[in-house]
Amino acid sequence: MKENENTRLYKRITEAFPALQAEANFSFRSHTTIGLGGIASVAVSPSTTDECAKLLSYFKRERIAYCFLGAGANVLPSDGYFDGAVVRFQRLKCTYLEGTQLYVGAGINGTALCSLGKSASVSGFEPFIGIPFTVGGGVAMNAGIAQSHFEDVVVRVTAVDGGKIRTFSAKECAFQEKDSVFLREKIAITGVLLKGKYAPRKRISENECFYRMRRSGLPKGRSMGCVFVNPSGISAGRLIEECGLKGTRMGGARISEIHANFIINECGTFQDVALLIDYVKREVANHTGIVLREEIRRIP
Ligand SMILES: Cc1cc2nc3c(=O)[nH]c(=O)nc-3n(C[C@H](O)[C@H](O)[C@H](O)COP(=O)(O)OP(=O)(O)OC[C@H]3O[C@@H](n4cnc5c(N)ncnc54)[C@H](O)[C@@H]3O)c2cc1C
Repeated sequence: MKENENTRLYKRITEAFPALQAEANFSFRSHTTIGLGGIASVAVSPSTTDECAKLLSYFKRERIAYCFLGAGANVLPSDGYFDGAVVRFQRLKCTYLEGTQLYVGAGINGTALCSLGKSASVSGFEPFIGIPFTVGGGVAMNAGIAQSHFEDVVVRVTAVDGGKIRTFSAKECAFQEKDSVFLREKIAITGVLLKGKYAPRKRISENECFYRMRRSGLPKGRSMGCVFVNPSGISAGRLIEECGLKGTRMGGARISEIHANFIINECGTFQDVALLIDYVKREVANHTGIVLREEIRRIP
C-alpha cells in the first residue's frame, strides 16, 4: 500500500479530533507480548471517557473498523494490514480512593494497581501481582489466578457502549472464565471501581512476595500467557503435556517445556503460532475427546 493510502485514515481521524493522541502505522508486533502481528492504519489514545465515547460514536457513524488493545498480553494479532483504528487506553490513568474502594482508569497496569492499594493499606489486589495487564484488559478478560479473579473485586465498571457512556454493576459484567460482557459485546472499559479491605502494609508486602514467588517458575520469553482455558476443572496444560506435546515446534513457535499451555515465539510468524494452536487442539481432541477453547483473543 502506498504511503498516502496508509495515512489516509490517520489524517481523517486527526482532522475530526485535533486534540486526540494518535499514531499512524501502528505496529502490533511492538505492542504485544507475543511480538507478532501486522500494521494498523492508526492507533488512538483517548484521555477521558467522554473523548472515548465521542470517538466510538464517530467510528460507528463513519463505519470505521476498530479494535481495543490493552497491554497486548493475551492477544494474537493477525499479520495482515488492518485498515482501521486500534483504540488504546494507556492515557486513562485517573485514580481515587473511597474508603477501601479504589477507582482506577482502564490504563493502569498491575504493578501500579498493587502499589496504589498498598500505599492506602488496602489489600485484595496482591494475587494480580506479576500478571501483565492494563486494568481494562484485565477486567474484560476476568484475569486472575485460582485464589482471585477480577470478578471477586469489581464493584462497578465505567464503559462506552456503542458511543454511549454506561455504568455496569458487577452482576451486569456477566463474568465468566476468561470472558465478560465487554468482550462479547465489544464494549470499551474506561474505568473500574474495585473493592479491597484494610490490612497493614507489612502484610500486603508479604502477600506480594508470596504471589511473586509462585510466578517465578513461569516460562520466560515471548508468549501470550496461557493459550487455552482449563476445561471444567481440568488443567489444559496437563492435558497437552499428557498428549506428549511439550516442546513441539512449528517453525519459530514452540510449546514450552516448562508449562505446556504456553506457546513461546522464537522469531516465528503469526502463521507458525496459529498452526501450532490448531495442531494442539486436534491432538488433544483425538487423544482425549476434549475440545480446547482458546483463552487468547484474535485481533483485529
Ligand atoms: C507471561 C504472561 C503471564 C500471564 N499470566 C496470567 C495469569 O496468571 N492470569 C491471567 O488471567 N492471565 C494471565 N496472562 C494473560 C493476560 O495477562 C491477561 O489476560 C490480561 O487480562 C490481558 O490484559 P491486557 O491489558 O494485556 O489485554 P489485551 O491482551 O490487550 O486484550 C485482551 C482482550 O481484551 C480487550 N480489551 C483490552 N482492553 C480493553 C478495554 N479497556 N475495554 C474492553 N476490552 C478491552 C482486547 O480487545 C482483547 O480482546 C498472562 C500473559 C502473559 C504474557
